[in-house]
Amino acid sequence: MSRHLRTEPIGDDDATIARALGSLSVSALTAAVVQITGDMSHVRGPIRPREFVQNEFQGRLSEDEQAALRARALTAIAAWRDAGCPPTRPLDPPLIREIMDWIACEPVPDDYAAMYQEEMDLAGRNPRALPVAGTPAHDRAELPVLIIGCGEGGLLAGIRLKEAGIPFEIIERNGDVGGTWLDNSYPGARVDVASHYYSYSFEPADVFSEYYARQPELHRYFREIFDRHGIAEHVRWHREVERAEWDEVAWHWLVTIRGPEGLRETRTARVVISAVGLLSRPSIPDLPGLDGFDGPVFHTAEWDHSVDLRGKRVALIGAGASGFQVGPAIVDDVEHLVVFQRTAQWMAPNPRYHERVRPGEHWALRHLPGYARWYRFMLMWQSSDRLLELVRIDERWPDFPHTANAASAARREVFLDWIMRHVGDDARLAALVTPDYPPMAKRMLQDNGSWLRCLKRPHVELVTDPIAGVGPSSVTTADGQRFDVDVIVLATGFRASELLWPMEIVGRGGTALAKAWDGRPTAYRGISVPDFPNFFMLGGPGTGLAHAGSVILTTECQLRYIGDAIRTLLAGGHRAIEPTRAAHDRYQQALQREISTLMWGHPSIEHSWYKARDGRVYVLCPWRLVDYWAMTATVDPDDHQVS
Ligand code: NAP
Repeated sequence: MSRHLRTEPIGDDDATIARALGSLSVSALTAAVVQITGDMSHVRGPIRPREFVQNEFQGRLSEDEQAALRARALTAIAAWRDAGCPPTRPLDPPLIREIMDWIACEPVPDDYAAMYQEEMDLAGRNPRALPVAGTPAHDRAELPVLIIGCGEGGLLAGIRLKEAGIPFEIIERNGDVGGTWLDNSYPGARVDVASHYYSYSFEPADVFSEYYARQPELHRYFREIFDRHGIAEHVRWHREVERAEWDEVAWHWLVTIRGPEGLRETRTARVVISAVGLLSRPSIPDLPGLDGFDGPVFHTAEWDHSVDLRGKRVALIGAGASGFQVGPAIVDDVEHLVVFQRTAQWMAPNPRYHERVRPGEHWALRHLPGYARWYRFMLMWQSSDRLLELVRIDERWPDFPHTANAASAARREVFLDWIMRHVGDDARLAALVTPDYPPMAKRMLQDNGSWLRCLKRPHVELVTDPIAGVGPSSVTTADGQRFDVDVIVLATGFRASELLWPMEIVGRGGTALAKAWDGRPTAYRGISVPDFPNFFMLGGPGTGLAHAGSVILTTECQLRYIGDAIRTLLAGGHRAIEPTRAAHDRYQQALQREISTLMWGHPSIEHSWYKARDGRVYVLCPWRLVDYWAMTATVDPDDHQVS
């Protein structure tokens, strides 16, 4: 049985099970009971969830109604335990659909239902395996693939290629797997997408101890999967790809790799997959005098763990997603914390943000067939595409561009209320932390109150005047204020629009991708580029998620597409595949048209990592997740040329 469906047999008595059920979502529990019993009467009875509420997952049912569902579930689970926990049978797709509608409290549209059925894979069919089963094994063995990076995307590519019997090598600059979740080891680092969704679809997610796992646990998650799939023998650590050049005569890529001590070597590969992601190269601000600072200066993605912050005066430059997590995590240690905030950020109230997974939920994820999959469904459903409409520009909206539209204005009130609840008693602070742009026009942050509580501490200062310069032991702002500090932490984000930088990827005719892009990265469906045959990207241009979803879902989508491109090569005996120029340009025009309907690139948003040098947005995905899922399902032959 597929690992993601495996559960451990139940050996607990009724009282223990009843205790576990007490803290569960009755929606996912009831769906699991149907899975165990095959009895649809559990979702056809008089008690039905009334409303799907984010993070509530009890369908707004009364305590009595919940108790009734739990009692029925206990009877069914105890009987299943007494029968020796026999294997359960997959439900037919129409029944799965009926349960989806029951949980969502509305008919789940066909396209979403199809995407979620694939993602949940309740039948254990492994639908996202590379579709190369019908191709000759010896052809596959002659298609060496080189993967750049062993983070979430590179690991996924390795797992899928290994499963498909295609030889591959992963080149990784670090000495360990994990990418983002290895680099970003700063205090407080944790994921801001629910962990039971921010995890591979084909692996169990019962390992997380918190609903939003911290970096060490996430790193362990990737490490364990890496070991389990035996990827180590395919990785060459401490090596960076400097250059990859398409050899027009030999029909392969020539890849130059710099190893330890600067030694260079060249490898060849028929296919290159870049899995370096969007947010891997730190952005170091160009602040006058920064180089002359006497004390430690480091970026959040390059945290210097040898520096003891206890009793130190610390400047935290940047109040985005990273700064937001660092501040509360170090505030108890430092003597003084000065937070330099250029732009205030909207934050979404999320009481579960730092919460431990409840023991009962942990039990259910481990023991109840289907529970983990239905819990994942609820997380996916709540973070699906509805939020995209909050950033849709309505220029007739009287409050535009302060808010984007009516829904945006309503959401602003909710977020403002959260701010006021925490700092309403301090009008100055409240004004400083209240953004003047619409919610979600920049990346939203998750908050359980820890950021605002941190800013209220007596030894914390929030500074919003621009930084003028850095002295040997101070930071000075434009208004002439000087802040004496011992350590500077740069929570200043990443060079998102300079994708693939500093690698040189040189395609047909000697064109270098960075030159062709010139700061405006584009790719067909975010994955491939004309004149760059057999070159694919995971986390490429136009794929960053700013409204919903989990990057792991989109990476899995991209790999499905790459898998179909590889199948096309193998099945047709072709040497190379690439999108046509016309298809690429058509896709880009459509993508830019769509982006222009959203707030992310609006001129009123002054600073944002979404924007490139020219002020436009190239890195984000403006499509609904379900549309991106559909457009990456297979390679459209009309849009590609094969050689
Ligand atoms: P970020 O969101 O781009 O934030 C960078 C911060 O530094 C912003 O406050 C920015 O101000 C400020 N800044 C940049 N250059 C500056 C300068 N020259 N002077 C003064 N301030 C400057 O970067 P991030 O916090 O590293 O997060 C980037 C993305 O990574 C997030 O949006 C998210 O997608 C991901 N991330 C996720 C998590 C998570 O899952 N929990 C955690 C960290 C990061 P402006 O706002 O004015 O530009």
